[in-house]
Amino acid sequence: MKSWASDISSCGVNEDWLVRIDELLPPSDYFEPVLREIVESLRSGKHITLEQGVELWNYPNLSAVATLATACKQARFGDQVFFNSNLHVNQTNICTLACKFCAFRRGPRAKDAYALSIDEFIERIRPYETMIDEVHTVGGLHPEWDVDYYESLFSRVKNAYPHIHIKSLSAVEVKHIAEVSGISTYALLSRLNKSGLDSLPGGGAEILDDDVRNVICNGKESSDEYISIHRDAHSVGMPTNCTMLFGTIESVEQRIAHLCKLRALQDETGGFQCFVPYPYLPDNSRLPEAQLASGSEVLRMIAISRLMLDNIPHIKAYRMNIGDRLSELALHHGADDFDGTVGHEEIMHEAGSDSIVGYSKSELTKFIFEAKGMPVQRNSNYTKFRRFDDDDRDMGIRLPVTSSVGE
Ligand code: SF4
Repeated sequence: MKSWASDISSCGVNEDWLVRIDELLPPSDYFEPVLREIVESLRSGKHITLEQGVELWNYPNLSAVATLATACKQARFGDQVFFNSNLHVNQTNICTLACKFCAFRRGPRAKDAYALSIDEFIERIRPYETMIDEVHTVGGLHPEWDVDYYESLFSRVKNAYPHIHIKSLSAVEVKHIAEVSGISTYALLSRLNKSGLDSLPGGGAEILDDDVRNVICNGKESSDEYISIHRDAHSVGMPTNCTMLFGTIESVEQRIAHLCKLRALQDETGGFQCFVPYPYLPDNSRLPEAQLASGSEVLRMIAISRLMLDNIPHIKAYRMNIGDRLSELALHHGADDFDGTVGHEEIMHEAGSDSIVGYSKSELTKFIFEAKGMPVQRNSNYTKFRRFDDDDRDMGIRLPVTSSVGE
């Protein structure tokens, strides 16, 4: 099993990826005229424009878009597909907001409202402590918990499990805790980073358009505030992920503009490591007008993300939301990250996900092998890697192969 390291900004991307793209992309005249200028931009490392992003969305042949996205993914990572060993723990489902798409939040008096004590939080991790290297922690906007509470939480978790990376707090939680504490988001993130917070997961982006946000998540951080909070995290020295929730009420142009906003911040800071696009799941939520996203829309969104976000290294197939099988297909549409083993997850499951949690590494890597990828276990910030080879493969039960066909 081969191991290697990378630095925090290149995140394991092949140094000569631009040269490789040129080799991997079919010649421009292989494509119809509408795609040729886009292919030339990809070849020369030039950003694709918003208008071109919309053209890719409207282009009827999804396979051609997937071919482009796969070439861009292969140039950066070859056949490698990344995953990690992680656990989701939600510190509370009590929330002062009521986003229409959210199936997770509860009012403080709800029968199933909860707020874990720090001891309970630490005990949630205990059964997984030798199996995971990341805890992913987001929750509702608790009316009383301030910076002191979160400093205690992160420092005690870090003290109990020094080997576990703490990826925690969506942008709206950062905004809320800063307001409750009467300090700036930069000061908050600085203090929390010193107490053990290692990175932000990227949640809360939804669609970075305030007209959409005013309908689906009124009261949440604005589009500019989302960008500003991630800029603060990057200035503090914390890498972050970024996300997109699509399939509610947004237009195609608003989806593509969302990508352009993330890309602009990445040009400025270089602090995003992974983009995680996922469709709205409608169970137990309040958005009957949502358009929802079909399977091919999900795959197209992932492919266009790879093509537009040429400065964000990793694109995740978030299997907690889109399931194992669509995630496998996403690996052929530009995604390179297969999420994690995920010991426990609530937010997507409350909204209707039936994705399996608690995979062993061999169960998870099976999907990657089946998609003809080479599984690579990564740490949270993409600086340490361990490749699984065919010898590590759990063959499981195989379909019988017969030589009698046609006899
Ligand atoms: S998405 Fe977050 S902020 Fe909005 S209601 Fe749910 S828990 Fe609260």
